[in-house]
Amino acid sequence: KKDLDNWRKIWRLPSDKLELVFMVYCFMHFIVLSFCLFVFCQVFNDPIHGSIELHPLLIKIIDTPQFQRLRFIKQLGGVYFVYPGASHNRFEHSIGVGYLAGKLAEALRSRQPELKIDDRDVLCVQIAGLCHDLGHGPFSHLYDGMFLPKCLMTLSLFCGMVLHIFSMQCKFIDNNIRVNKTGPDSLCVVIPAVPYKGRPKENSFLYEIVSNKKNGVDVDKFDYLARDSSYLGIKNNFDFRRFLQFARVCEVDGRKTICTRDKEEDHMYHLFYTRHHLHKRACQHRVSHIIQEMIAEAFLKADGHIQIEGSGGRMFTLSTANEDMEAYTKLTDNVFEEILKSSCSELKKAREILQNIISRKSYKFVDERKPKDPIEDWKVSLCSCEENNLKPEDFEILVIEMDYGMDDKDPIQHVHFYSKSDKAAVLLYRDPGFAQRIDDKSVEAAKKHFKQWILLLHLYDFDPFLMPN
Ligand SMILES: [Zn+2]
Repeated sequence: KKDLDNWRKIWRLPSDKLELVFMVYCFMHFIVLSFCLFVFCQVFNDPIHGSIELHPLLIKIIDTPQFQRLRFIKQLGGVYFVYPGASHNRFEHSIGVGYLAGKLAEALRSRQPELKIDDRDVLCVQIAGLCHDLGHGPFSHLYDGMFLPKCLMTLSLFCGMVLHIFSMQCKFIDNNIRVNKTGPDSLCVVIPAVPYKGRPKENSFLYEIVSNKKNGVDVDKFDYLARDSSYLGIKNNFDFRRFLQFARVCEVDGRKTICTRDKEEDHMYHLFYTRHHLHKRACQHRVSHIIQEMIAEAFLKADGHIQIEGSGGRMFTLSTANEDMEAYTKLTDNVFEEILKSSCSELKKAREILQNIISRKSYKFVDERKPKDPIEDWKVSLCSCEENNLKPEDFEILVIEMDYGMDDKDPIQHVHFYSKSDKAAVLLYRDPGFAQRIDDKSVEAAKKHFKQWILLLHLYDFDPFLMPN
């Protein structure tokens, strides 16, 4: 209104012409915005999603050294040494997730205007998609899972990197997503790992788009299943485009959550099965696993002999680079080559391990077992026969856990479905059958009758004497 009054004064228009001023103002705003988007938006050609057009703010984030670093981190780590096609990086995956996050938010917005998803919400989930993997170290899960002790490293590194970018770009980001507050709180919707902070409860479904903690159905998975299977040459039976078509926000236990159509139940099984299949065939492939162990071993041997410059000229090692975001920005898969090409005598042992990897002299697989109880000291038990002078350090025990993403639980039990006739979400709903008379009234009557019949069957199960002869 203040702007309008100023405009009116500048143009010396009477106050009754305020409506005209408002229309001119909106029109010019639209023209300027379209022009900016046209000039500054950038189009990427992605092998999975085709042409991707991104908002200038997202381009600004992509152009930071922290995001560019993802170009040099293999999406599937050491799997590349087994599957030659698995050469893709976190960079293209992150762009894909940012794009899909926007697509899902837009699909929900156009289908359900009552959700009041605004431009800022769409932009924020896109930022979340772009940034979700910023914390990964060299060879993705190898650095934070095998090299550093298993802990919440990825989360803390992710938060560190995000805040590092935003501290440099804060003004630009704030101007673009129009937040009044500055600092991490105003942007915490972009941090999917931080539970439901920064948005009201009625918008909590926005957090499920990039990283769904309830059931794992999120755009991160959609992108990596499509991308990884394409690069590995393994079939993917899940079609994320179908999910986008049927996604809908419904209220479940007082909280708005993203659901899909009941008829999509089988399709959702494909999502979890494809993830399990890729995990088994690529990530947990015995040679991939052994090679990742060898790389982690080489990194441990090289630790302390590789210096990385951080903020204020302070020097860090491989294992301490995560304490300084400037040093961490320089830490990528590049370390592998640095060790391999070095002539430094302290790196000799690490170099030999990596040379063995590239000349395919990996450690040999002995056997695998599913033990009922964990064996306390495997390595000692294995060499107790004293044959060939085997020592405990000659063995490496790899523990592999296979599941469908939720330990021993069935993830589908945590996905909510809605039916076509009433949009209230139901859990694990199966379409009961088909009616031959297809007029609306007959179909409704058949459905009602079917539900009553099911109820009666349950009753007879409970008390068989009620069953009519
Ligand atoms: Zn990811």
